[in-house]
Amino acid sequence: MRIEADLHTHTHFSDGKGSIEENVLAARAKGLKRIAITDHGPGHLGFGIKRHQLKEMRAIVDILNRKYDDIEILLGLEANILNEDGDLDIDDELLEDLDILLAGYHFGSSPKKWPRDITFHSNNWFKKRSKKIYEKAMAANTKAFVNAMRRYDIDIITHPGAKGPLDIEAVAKVAEETHTAMEISASRHAYLTVEAIEIARKYRVDFTVNSDAHVPEGIGEVEGGLERAEAAGISIESLLNNRADFPNRRGTRDEF
Ligand SMILES: [Zn+2]
Ligand SMILES: [Zn+2]
Repeated sequence: MRIEADLHTHTHFSDGKGSIEENVLAARAKGLKRIAITDHGPGHLGFGIKRHQLKEMRAIVDILNRKYDDIEILLGLEANILNEDGDLDIDDELLEDLDILLAGYHFGSSPKKWPRDITFHSNNWFKKRSKKIYEKAMAANTKAFVNAMRRYDIDIITHPGAKGPLDIEAVAKVAEETHTAMEISASRHAYLTVEAIEIARKYRVDFTVNSDAHVPEGIGEVEGGLERAEAAGISIESLLNNRADFPNRRGTRDEF
């Protein structure tokens, strides 16, 4: 295993198949030292967690951290970037329970402002129909990521560019300013691409390669992401996955 941590995994609390413990057991079997449980935020209409479930997830993670002393389990969320303002589907109350905050754009997150936020989704949905729609989508997505990073203390932006086009240079610049890591996802949509990593690495941005596993067997399966990272000149040792100063928002790592 060339990474110590998988920082993006899903469970049955959103659209994954396994339990939190099954994810942890799979991570231990792969020799990982850390795993983050990062289900979809409550603003996803199809498979977001229910707000009240986060407390239950927190309790499970705390129990499992006591049960297994050879792995650190972090509770996170993959929050939804909802619109051009960069609104996320989280608040201070939810943040209190999180060790790590991921955020990404997904089709199917709930609109806040009508009809603007519907257009935000539909331009991404129909981006291949015309150059004009593609450009509108890119401008709105870039604003959305930039505003989200400036407004919230996000640890990792997930699969940037996967569901809609982004101006990677503009996003990377603000990722540097706000100390937000950019994900090289090993899941099948394969974003960041090699070309995008090459643009982003002109800035002092942290990168992280994660599985985005939705089944326990997929945890730690990141070879495709590592290959793209290396092809773009990123060393595996420099990835956030392998760093000792890894973030834990609640500071519980010291007790670990
Ligand atoms: Zn995602
Ligand atoms: Zn995900």
